[in-house]
Amino acid sequence: IKKTGILEFIKSDLRMEDVGGLENLKRWLQKRNRSWLDSASKYGLSAPKGVLITGVPGCGKSLISKAISSMWHLPLLRLDIGKIFSGIVGSSEENMREAIKTAEALAPAILWIDEIEKGFSGLGSNGDSGTSARIFGQFLTWMQEKSSPVFVIATANNIQSLPPEMMRKGRFDEIFFVDLPTKRERMEILKVHMGKRLHDASVVGSFEQSPETLSELADSTEGFVGAEIEHLVVSALFEAFSENRSITLADFERAIENTVPLSVTQAEQILA
Ligand code: ATP
Repeated sequence: IKKTGILEFIKSDLRMEDVGGLENLKRWLQKRNRSWLDSASKYGLSAPKGVLITGVPGCGKSLISKAISSMWHLPLLRLDIGKIFSGIVGSSEENMREAIKTAEALAPAILWIDEIEKGFSGLGSNGDSGTSARIFGQFLTWMQEKSSPVFVIATANNIQSLPPEMMRKGRFDEIFFVDLPTKRERMEILKVHMGKRLHDASVVGSFEQSPETLSELADSTEGFVGAEIEHLVVSALFEAFSENRSITLADFERAIENTVPLSVTQAEQILA
C-alpha cells in the first residue's frame, strides 16, 4: 500500500495557532481531546467517527487537518482516493480494504481523505453499480461499524457533488462548512502569516503589525481566502526584497491591487 502511494504518512508540526478562523470547528475540537479516541469505549461511548469539512478551496481545510494531528499527537495518514481505483477488477476494493487495515493497525490514528468528492462525486443514493459505488458502500459500512480509534477527516471542496448518504447521521460526527473568511478571520490569518515571516528588524523596519494596520488590510482583502492572504504577504515581502529595503504598507497595497481573488473571478464567470 505504501508503494502504490494510496496512503501517505504526513509529518506536520502545524499548530492550531497557525490556523486563522474556522472557529466552529476549533471549538468543537477543543471540547474533545485525544483520549476521547482511546477511551470512548471504556465509557460505553462509540468511538468517534470523524468530521467532514467542506467549503471554499484555499480556506484551510488541509491546514486544520494537519493541525489536528499535531494537537492530538497522532499519526496522520493521507488517503488518495483517486489512487484507490486501480482499473483492475476487484483490486479497488482490495486497495480500500488494505488502506483501512493499515490505518487500523496504526491506530489511534487520523485518516485524512482529501478531496473525497474525487472518488464519490455523482453517485446517486441508491441503485448505483460500478466500482465507485461499491467502494463507497464499503467505506460507509466501515464508517458506521468501525470500533477502532481511527478518526476520519474527509475534506471536500464541493458538498453538492457528494452522495447524500455521506451526510446521514452515523457516518460523521459532524459536518463543517468553511466559508470565505470574515474580516476578523482575515485579520487573524494576516497575523499568522506576518508573524511567521516578519522577524528580521531590517525587514520589518517601521512597519507595525498593529490592530489598525491589520484592520485596514483586512478591509482591503474582502473576498480573499487564506491561501490568497498568505500569497499577499509573500508578494509584499518580495516587493521589499527586490529593492533590498524594509517592508511598508504600500507593498501590501500594491500586492492587493495585483490580486484578483478567485471568489471574484468565479462570481464574474457566474454573472457573465
Ligand atoms: P484546497 O481544497 O484547495 O486544498 P484548503 O481549504 O485545503 O484548499 P489549504 O490547503 O489548507 O486550503 O490552504 C492553503 C494554504 O493557505 C495553507 O497552507 C495556508 O498557508 C494558507 N491558509 C489557508 N487558510 C488559512 C487559514 N484559515 N489560516 C491560515 N492560513 C491559511
